[in-house]
Amino acid sequence: MEKYDLSAIDAYINRAYKIIIVLPLTGATTSAFVFTIFKLTNLWPMVPILPLVLYDLINLFYLIFAIYLLKTGFDENGTIKPKKILVAKLYIGILVFAQWNYITYLIPYHEWWAYLFFFIGLTIVFFDYRFTALISASLIISTFISWIINGQYHFLDPADTLFLPSLILRLFCIGLSTSTLLFITYFGGKYLVEELDRHANYDTLTHLLNRRTMDTYLNEAIHEAHSKKSTFCLMMIDIDDFKHVNDTYGHEFGDEVLKYVANTISTGVKKNDHVFRWGGEEILVLLKTDSEKAYAAAERIRNDIVKDAILYNNKEKVFVSVTIGLSSFNENHTIKDMMEDADQKLYYGKNNGKNQVVISL
Ligand code: GH3
Ligand code: MG
Ligand code: MG
Repeated sequence: MEKYDLSAIDAYINRAYKIIIVLPLTGATTSAFVFTIFKLTNLWPMVPILPLVLYDLINLFYLIFAIYLLKTGFDENGTIKPKKILVAKLYIGILVFAQWNYITYLIPYHEWWAYLFFFIGLTIVFFDYRFTALISASLIISTFISWIINGQYHFLDPADTLFLPSLILRLFCIGLSTSTLLFITYFGGKYLVEELDRHANYDTLTHLLNRRTMDTYLNEAIHEAHSKKSTFCLMMIDIDDFKHVNDTYGHEFGDEVLKYVANTISTGVKKNDHVFRWGGEEILVLLKTDSEKAYAAAERIRNDIVKDAILYNNKEKVFVSVTIGLSSFNENHTIKDMMEDADQKLYYGKNNGKNQVVISL
């Protein structure tokens, strides 16, 4: 697969991925460092040694895992692997949850600042509002549980004049940070991620997946086919005599035709198949099926496209056809080989009457 420069969006997503991993980690390691120094200098004698050592070890593990995620998160084009984003989310979820509970335990009745700290970190980190809501709820529940279980340890003496103010402060911090977090992730993050996703993965004219996304899916498909002994096919589709359509009816109408073809293909394939805009008027389809079923699908698509007309100026009926080259997975072939194979078959079809599906030469 050829290399290409990362677009601004790619660069943004890559940066976000790194922030997602590094930001909470810096919080975790800083607190481990500070707690340990406090303990060693006896500034903070009441912190038990065993939980503290365990805390430092856990943080060391986070650090190693973060390096692993940063080193393995990207494919050869520099794009983040979709599965790694999920792993990163899980990693951060577990880190924050464990960290929160640990801090609640290690610094009783002064832990309120930590709530704010983690929530600020989370706000930047999770643009996934459902995930944020889940994490927030589990943090709050676990806080109350730890307060109940460690009652004596976690509260000032009720006779202490600071008992009530400290309790109010803690509840206030939890409430304020939770609602701010949910507000920001829901309204800001939801919009931002949807926009980013749309720009990064879809072609604006046809609403098909774009070429950048195609590389990721194709690499994943061949990897899966090799490891799970499954199969897949590639369909290379090119509109017949499209230059003629553009020349006769204008480029704008050409765009309409392109949208019609893209739409017909998208509705003609199964849910787990993927349709990409490969080039100008060339469309690539990834089908997770054998060549026989893929051939049937290709014939159906070809038929669907020729049978309906696109209206020009609301009166003239314009018919278009497509030629399709079909290549199926073979253990010895790379994605590049398959693409070349599909392309050759397409070329053959173009030279032999067009409006057809070519499966073998
Ligand atoms: P063939 O049957 O051999 O495919 O003939 P063709 O005229 O379709 O030839 P080719 O596939 O080389 O045509 C590519 C043309 O597609 C050239 C360009 O004007 C047109 N095209 C590419 N992208 C777009 C687009 O986004 N919109 C429009 N309207 N036309 C496009
Ligand atoms: Mg073409
Ligand atoms: Mg063409």
